[in-house]
Amino acid sequence: NTFRKFNLDKEILKALNNLEYKRPSNVQTKTIPQLINKNDVIVKSKTGSGKTASFAIPICENINVEDNNVQALVIVPTRELALQVKEEISNIGRLKKVRCCAIYGKQPIKEQISSLKQRVHVVVATPGRIIDHIKRETINIKNLNYLIIDEADKMLNKGFIEQIDTIFENLPKNKTVGLFSATIDEDIEYVCKKYMNEALIIDV
Ligand code: AMP
Repeated sequence: NTFRKFNLDKEILKALNNLEYKRPSNVQTKTIPQLINKNDVIVKSKTGSGKTASFAIPICENINVEDNNVQALVIVPTRELALQVKEEISNIGRLKKVRCCAIYGKQPIKEQISSLKQRVHVVVATPGRIIDHIKRETINIKNLNYLIIDEADKMLNKGFIEQIDTIFENLPKNKTVGLFSATIDEDIEYVCKKYMNEALIIDV
C-alpha cells in the first residue's frame, strides 16, 4: 500500500518520498483517485487526517506547468490555514515546478497583485480577498480546473453562502469541485445541490 498505485508523476512520487509520506492515509486512499479522475467530492474529515495532501496531490498531478494560467483555487477560512496549505502544495509540487501562492486579508493588495502576475498555477485564498481580486480583475480564473473549499464548516457564518455564490458565479462551468468539512449541514447541502455534479460523499 504505497502512493505508487495512483500512477503519479515521477516528480510527485519523489517529493512524497522526500516528505517521508510512505503510505496514503484513509482519506487519501479514498479521495486521491476521485479528484485525479475529476469527480466532485464532499469529504468529511478532520485536521490531522492528511486531508490537505488528499487534494494537493491530485491538483499537482493534473497541473500543466507549461500553462501559466491559474488552474486550481483553494478557499480556506484563515490566513494560518492558507499558509499551511500553500506550504503543502509547494512541497508536493516542488520537483514538478508547480507554482503556488497564498492570498489573504490584511496583507497589502499590491504585493498580492504582483505575486499573481508571477504566473502561478495554484492560488490558496481566504474568501473575502479572492473576491476582491476577482472584482478588480487581478486574477484570471477562466482556465480553472479545480476548486477546493477546505474546512468549509469553519466558514459557515452569515456571509459565507453569499461569498461562495460570488466565487462560483465567476468560475468556468467545467471544473472539479472538492468540499472538505468536519460536519455536513444544510449550507454544505446547498453548495452541493447548486454547484456540484453527482458529488461522491467520502466519510472517513
Ligand atoms: P492534515 O490533516 O492535512 O493537516 O495533515 C496532518 C499531518 O500529516 C501533516 O503534518 C502532514 O504533513 C502529514 N501527512 C499527510 N499525509 C501523510 C502521509 N501519507 N504520511 C505521513 N504523513 C502525512
